[in-house]
Amino acid sequence: MGACNVTNNRMEIIPLGGLGEFGMNIMAVRYHDDIVVVDAGLMFPRDDLLGVDLVIPDFAYLLENRDKVRSVILTHGHEDHIGALAYLLKEITVPVYGTPLTLGFAHGRLKENGLLDHVELIDIDPQTALDFGAIHVEVLGMTHSIADSVGFAVTTPVGTVVFTGDFKLDQSPLNGNLTDYAALSRLGEQGVLALFSDSTNSERPGFTPSEIHVRPHIEQVFHTCRKKILVACFASSIHRIQIILDLARDFGRRVVVIGRSMKENITIASDLGYLSIPPGILADSSEAQSIPEGQLVILSTGSQAEPLAALTRLAFGKHKDFAVQEGDAVILSARIIPGNEARVSRLVNHFCRRGARVYDESHWMMHVSGHASQEELKLMINLTKPRFFIPVHGEYRQLYAHALLARDVGIPKERIILAETGDIIALSENSVWIDGKTAVGRRLIDEGGLAALDEVVVRDRQHLSEEGVVLAVVAINKATGRVEGTPELVSRGHVQEDDAAAFLAEARQVIVKALDDCTQEEREDSMVPAEIIRTELKRYFRKRTGTRPMIVPVIIDI
Ligand SMILES: [Zn+2]
Ligand SMILES: [Zn+2]
Repeated sequence: MGACNVTNNRMEIIPLGGLGEFGMNIMAVRYHDDIVVVDAGLMFPRDDLLGVDLVIPDFAYLLENRDKVRSVILTHGHEDHIGALAYLLKEITVPVYGTPLTLGFAHGRLKENGLLDHVELIDIDPQTALDFGAIHVEVLGMTHSIADSVGFAVTTPVGTVVFTGDFKLDQSPLNGNLTDYAALSRLGEQGVLALFSDSTNSERPGFTPSEIHVRPHIEQVFHTCRKKILVACFASSIHRIQIILDLARDFGRRVVVIGRSMKENITIASDLGYLSIPPGILADSSEAQSIPEGQLVILSTGSQAEPLAALTRLAFGKHKDFAVQEGDAVILSARIIPGNEARVSRLVNHFCRRGARVYDESHWMMHVSGHASQEELKLMINLTKPRFFIPVHGEYRQLYAHALLARDVGIPKERIILAETGDIIALSENSVWIDGKTAVGRRLIDEGGLAALDEVVVRDRQHLSEEGVVLAVVAINKATGRVEGTPELVSRGHVQEDDAAAFLAEARQVIVKALDDCTQEEREDSMVPAEIIRTELKRYFRKRTGTRPMIVPVIIDI
């Protein structure tokens, strides 16, 4: 009878991504016949995942239980938390709850995918309470690098579970909205069954500095630079963008924003009142030509050295409106996502070749993290006093480091659950354990190239077998930047054998032409030719054969 009770009265939490990997945060919270999905994020592919633009979680578990899914609730507007939302909503129609800025950022992607008509978007704010069947949700204010972030306290008859979402305990956030310490400690007094907490910076000792701390460091650059100032940050970093706009005003500079996502987010954030744009501060590229260099700031995305981003084109001297010159300052005001370090370092080299001075996070404090360091993580545990602790959001090493911190704070080892993506975390009134695994995976998304954000292709294994693979092998002499020999093309499962030879011969010419158009500096950096080959071949095959094979460029440095 007792055992029966345990199985009957239980809650399940299933991470479908984000545990043991960076990005793609999504969790299913289930109590009997009700499921609430917390976040639906994507992962940006690393250098080694060739031929794809985005990675999203496999929704199989949610699709199998589609009649039970009540809602998606969002913690904040970063892509690793909302980037897969459109793909999920294409398959399941449920209402989406988020704070105004979070929904504002999600809106664009949903519109592009024609989903706005049948998806309900519902505003929440800290203190909102929501009920989905037997699942009660309380919204908790949190500080993070993006405004309007929240966590959730989810209560079922089994108990209360706290999800921090991404957070830091910033004591002087730019918009004045503090983490809701009172609510967290009240929950702690009432009794928290389990805490799911952000592990990103669990290996970092001390406290994460406040966002306000970067301003004087960036200001130094404004004091010393007499030429153009280029600033790269994430399009969602509204606080950071505010700092740049304010400094530009104070130093009599105008700001040119480049990049579609940055422009869109600035509009959304200012419409919603999260960004105040000093009057007359923004200029467009055509106006910029008449503004003296010393009065110009260029604000752009591309801080991860994405191969086709405007910042990368600037680094290679190939941007259509601006040329980086001796005396310019380049501020990289963002975290380098693990896996992109080598690429960003090469970008810095190219800026230096043009005589720019580069300021980055590591040496110049041009960025502070949006995630809690060790002392803040311990404080979160002390405030909520959970019986069980589950570190989330990070690779295994960060989850493990966070588990060790929890032990320092006094949570016994047997009450710390180190779970990974796909684990079914079962909770009863007095225990938490891993009860098997559900099918999880990744789906690779090909957005169809740079400018042409037309229709989006989801590439699963089956798709791959239908559309095939084209491998392009090019040898480039690293010293001279010359292409050696002719490019080799190998195609599998793509076009009919008899047509293949003709198409591949033409495709080879496409590659030769594209590489001819590159500068020597671009050819020496294997990343650039690889991305150009991928884009050009994609375009070629779509036009000539109507197919979308996966293009895998292989550049051999000799
Ligand atoms: Zn975040
Ligand atoms: Zn995150």
